[in-house]
Amino acid sequence: MPGRLQYKSTLITGAGSGIGLESALLFAQEGADVLLVDVNEQAVNAAAKKVAERFPNVKVAATKADVSKEAEVKAAVDKAVELFGRLDVVFNNAGIMHPADDNALNTEEKIWDLTMDVNLKGVWWGCKHAIIAMRKNPTDASKGLHTGGSIINTASFVAIMGAATPQLAYTASKGAVLAMTRELAMVHAREGIRLNSICPGPLKTPLLMDFLNTDEKKNRRLVHLPMGRFGEAVEIAKGALFLASDDSSYMTGTDFKVDGGLTSCYVTPE
Ligand code: NAD
Repeated sequence: MPGRLQYKSTLITGAGSGIGLESALLFAQEGADVLLVDVNEQAVNAAAKKVAERFPNVKVAATKADVSKEAEVKAAVDKAVELFGRLDVVFNNAGIMHPADDNALNTEEKIWDLTMDVNLKGVWWGCKHAIIAMRKNPTDASKGLHTGGSIINTASFVAIMGAATPQLAYTASKGAVLAMTRELAMVHAREGIRLNSICPGPLKTPLLMDFLNTDEKKNRRLVHLPMGRFGEAVEIAKGALFLASDDSSYMTGTDFKVDGGLTSCYVTPE
């Protein structure tokens, strides 16, 4: 059985941890070459080693890049094309949730700017350079490869619903990811470039668990989760795999929710 990403070249940001790492493992398992990108060099090298050891039949590489810096994102995209010969999938997944991100009165401008630089501008740079590379992809019908590609941008459930536990900059940045992705999806729809957002619910990854560092904080959220549990990073990676693969060939501009039902919920089960 060929993998769902057989012959495809993929790049994942924030691949040193959480959703990004689980996605790298899944993409490689499905036959893709994978460039793992992260600002944390040690983490991304360790992650790439883990993926390469488990899936020696595909090409795996790591590169350090801060997604908020355009030159570093461009260099990462160029590296993927140089190593793998093309670029079919870009998963703009890197993001931060700053502990000092708060409500409208308490959030400092520098926290707002930092959050926007990574979570929103970083996704813009990733889309821009992915689009430039994907336009040049040669078609190879024998391998199911074509011009264009699939871009997946990580937003969040907070892009869709309000929370009385505020993180103003984070929420605003993720709402903007949804809006930007929709518009880019329309602009590039006739070029064979699909763009979709993925909206994870609250997950058991360092990003959220470092923030919810007491039982009280965890329980404040758990009561609102229909399934009564936080999600796992791999459950989001499976959604990203679907959006990356040709299984989602007629999907573009969507807000793809993988949230345990949270954004459909009024009253949770007892
Ligand atoms: P994580 O903290 O486990 O992983 C995030 C990775 O991004 C880290 O390896 C980090 O080093 C990297 N990163 C941070 N800033 C970067 C930068 N400037 N350039 C490159 N890499 C950078 O978090 P995660 O839970 O896997 O989160 C991944 C994405 O999912 C984020 O965009 C996050 O906002 C989103 N998300 C997470 C949750 C959750 O509950 N964990 C919920 C909704 C959305």
